[in-house]
Amino acid sequence: MPTITEQTKLTNASLSIARVTATPMVVEASFEGQPVEFSLCLVAVETRDGRIGHGLTAITEEEVVATAINAVAAPALLGENAMAHERIWEKLYWLLAPRGQTGYALHVIAAIDLALWDLKGKVLGQPVWRLLGAARDRTPVYATFGFDSIERDRLGEAAKEAVSRGFTRLKMTVGNKALSRRDEPRPIGAVIAEDALRIRAVRQAVGDEVELFLDANCGLDPLHAQRLARSVEECGITFFEEPITQNDAPQMAALRRAVRIPLACGQNEGLLYRFRDLLLAGAVDVLQPNVAITGGLTQCLRVAALAQAFNTPIANGGAWTFHNMHLHAGVAHGGLVEYHLPVVAIYEALFRGVPRAEGGWLALPEAPGFGFEPDPDAVRDFAARPLSGGRGKH
Ligand SMILES: [Mg+2]
Repeated sequence: MPTITEQTKLTNASLSIARVTATPMVVEASFEGQPVEFSLCLVAVETRDGRIGHGLTAITEEEVVATAINAVAAPALLGENAMAHERIWEKLYWLLAPRGQTGYALHVIAAIDLALWDLKGKVLGQPVWRLLGAARDRTPVYATFGFDSIERDRLGEAAKEAVSRGFTRLKMTVGNKALSRRDEPRPIGAVIAEDALRIRAVRQAVGDEVELFLDANCGLDPLHAQRLARSVEECGITFFEEPITQNDAPQMAALRRAVRIPLACGQNEGLLYRFRDLLLAGAVDVLQPNVAITGGLTQCLRVAALAQAFNTPIANGGAWTFHNMHLHAGVAHGGLVEYHLPVVAIYEALFRGVPRAEGGWLALPEAPGFGFEPDPDAVRDFAARPLSGGRGKH
C-alpha cells in the first residue's frame, strides 16, 4: 500500500498536462428557421492519465487564437499540474501579455482556463458551479432574441413567441453596427430613430410585465447613445448594454448621469484593471464579465468579488450561456445569465448534454465539469468548414 504522500505524488503525476490542442471552427445551426453560424475556438487539455477537459472562446479571430494556443501556450503547459489553475493563469499571463496587453492573449487564457475547470470538475466528480461554492442550483435568465436581421414588422411577433416559451426578460440589439459600417454610409441618426420604433414595437407587443434589455454591441458614440436612451425612457428598459464604443469609462459615467436607463458593460474586457476603472468611474449599474472572453473563470471570480465590493450586480453579457451559468450559480454575487437563442442553438449543435431553460430559469447540471461534452462527429464536421473573419461575432 502506498502512503498518503506517495499516493498524492502518483495522483499529481497522472494529472500533469500531456497535451493541449485548439481547434478553430465554424458551427452552423438554425434560428427562426434561418441558418446561423458562429466561429469559435474549442480547446482540449488532456492529462497523462487520459482525462480531457474542454473550454472555448469566441468573438475574436479564432484562427489567430488557435495558433497562439497550439504554437505558444501548449508547449509551455506540458508537465504542469492541471489542477493548478492559478499557477497556470499566471504563467500564461507573463508568457502572452507581460506588459498588460489585452486582446487575443486573454482569449487564449480564457479558453485554456475553462478547460482546466472542466477537468477539475471531472477529477473531483463535481459540477463546476458546486466547486465555485454552489450559491444556488438554478439561475434566472434573459433571452436574447431581437436581432437586426428581424424586420420591425416581425419583431413584435418574435418577442411574443419568446414570452410564450416562458421568458419574462428579453434583450434586443440596437445601433445596428452604426459606427463600424460608416463606409456604407448610413446616417447614425436614422439608425437610432429606427431603433426607437423597434423598441416601442416590442414593448407594445409584450406589455409592461416583461423586462426589456438593449444591447448596442459598442456600436454607438455617446451623443447618439444618449439620444436613443432618452427617446425610449418611457419604455422601462432594465439595462442598456455596451451603449458606446470602447466601453470608455469616463464617457460611460457621463452617459449614466445623463440618462435614466441603467447601463452595463464588460463582456469584451480582458484585464482586471479595466473593471476597476469602470467601477471607480461610476460607469456602470451592472458589470458583465464573460468567462469565455475575460480570462476564464479564474479571472471572472476576481471580477465578481470586485463588483461585490462596490455593491454592483453582475450579469452575463456576450452569451456563451452554458459556461457562464456556472459562475452565476456558483457565487452568491452571481446574477442573470444570457440565454442567447442563436448561441443556445450553436451549443446544441456542437455539444451533448446541454440543459434547456424552463420558465425563465436554467437548472444547473449534476454531471462533473461543465456537464456537457463536445460531439466528436460535430467537431470534425464544423472544424472542416472554411473560416472567414467577422462571422457570428456577437
Ligand atoms: Mg452583448
